[in-house]
Amino acid sequence: MKFAIFGDIHSNLHALEAVLADAENLGCTQHVCMGDIVGYNAFPCECLAIVRDLDCPTVKGNHDEQASMAISQEGLNPLAEEALDWTRDRLAPDERQWLRELRIQRQVRDFTIVHATLDTPHKWGYITNQLDAAASFSYQLTGLCFVGHTHVPRAYMRNATVQTVAHDQLSIQPNRKYLINVGSVGQPRDGDWRASYCIHDTDEQTISIRRIPYDIAAAQQAILDEGLPRKLAARLAVGR
Ligand code: ZN
Repeated sequence: MKFAIFGDIHSNLHALEAVLADAENLGCTQHVCMGDIVGYNAFPCECLAIVRDLDCPTVKGNHDEQASMAISQEGLNPLAEEALDWTRDRLAPDERQWLRELRIQRQVRDFTIVHATLDTPHKWGYITNQLDAAASFSYQLTGLCFVGHTHVPRAYMRNATVQTVAHDQLSIQPNRKYLINVGSVGQPRDGDWRASYCIHDTDEQTISIRRIPYDIAAAQQAILDEGLPRKLAARLAVGR
C-alpha cells in the first residue's frame, strides 16, 4: 500500500493540486495530512475543503491552531500574523471548529504522525538537528514517525546513535527507528521552490521524498490579488 504523506500546505492550492496529482499517478491510495493546512498563502478554504474531502488521518499544525482561535496566542512573526488575521476572516465557524478539533498526535497503522515533535508536541518546537531528533526519538514508540513544521525535508535514523540519512530514497531496516520530515507542500524553505511530500510504500518498506513543480506564478498572483504581503509571494520563488 502506498501512502502520500504531506503537510505544511499553507493555503497553496496550486502546490496541493500538483502534489495530489503526482501521488495519484504513482498509485498512492492512502493519504495522511501533517497539518498547517492554512496560513501564508491565498486559498485557505479551498485547501481545507480538499483535505476534508480526502477524509484522511490529519494532525493539527500551529497555524491551524492559531487560525481556529479568535486571536493569536503566541508571538508569531509579523508576516505569519498578518496572513493568519486574513485567514481567520475567511474561515467559516465550522471550518475553524474542524481545525480546532484536530488531534496533536496520531498513530496510523504502525507509524506515528505529529506536526512538530514527539517530546513537546504542544509547544511546537523545531527538529533541526540530531540533538532535537534524539529528544523526539525518546518518545517514539513506533519504528517510524513522520513530522513537518520546519518546511525542510529530512530523515533521521536511530540505532546506536542518531544520524541524518538520505531522504530522497530510503529503505527501512528492521530494529532501527526513523523520523522523517516530509517537507512542505506550500512553502518549502530548503532553497528548492518545488512542493515537497513523502511517499511511504508499506509493502516495499521504502520512504521517498518527492519534489513537484507547480504553477508558482499563479500562486504568487493570487497572494498579490488578495492584498497579502508581497514578501509571501516573493519567498515562494526562492524556497525560503
Ligand atoms: Zn508550517
